[in-house]
Amino acid sequence: MPGVDFEEAPTVRAVAAMLIDDHHPHLTDAKDLIGFYFRYGTSDWAGKAKKCTAFERHMTGKQLFVFVNAEAWEALKHDQRLALVDHELCHFSRKSERHYDDEQQGWVDAWTAADDSDSWGIRDHDVEEFSDVIKRHGLWEQGIEQFAQAVRNASYQADLFEDYSARSTG
Ligand SMILES: [Zn+2]
Repeated sequence: MPGVDFEEAPTVRAVAAMLIDDHHPHLTDAKDLIGFYFRYGTSDWAGKAKKCTAFERHMTGKQLFVFVNAEAWEALKHDQRLALVDHELCHFSRKSERHYDDEQQGWVDAWTAADDSDSWGIRDHDVEEFSDVIKRHGLWEQGIEQFAQAVRNASYQADLFEDYSARSTG
């Protein structure tokens, strides 16, 4: 693909740091382990969340990547940028383990190590449906109705952002 380039995206990182503090507690100790990059060149997605392959971890020291289409970012308003980055961060899941805590004298759940790639996973969207099916059949399934309600309640249209999430086998 001609004309594709990548650049670190500190502005995306700054937005993500804010969102992580407010909404993504499982990422608070992993901010430095996420690489944020602008992607220059045509793509049919605005943002993309990905777990690093072993080689990518070796090259970057990161565990997770967020890619943002540079052109899309320029076109988005502030609130839409927040929604896009929030959306991508929602794709990252993290394992937790239950252990007995002597001080609290009870079982507690704790995230597994941030620098262990086995801790991380990619979460799919809550709702997946073809827009054609929704056009033809409406909100036929409860999950879709809940999703629609969340969209109506929000000040922005979170589903403006079509993206693609990749699983890593590395
Ligand atoms: Zn997504």
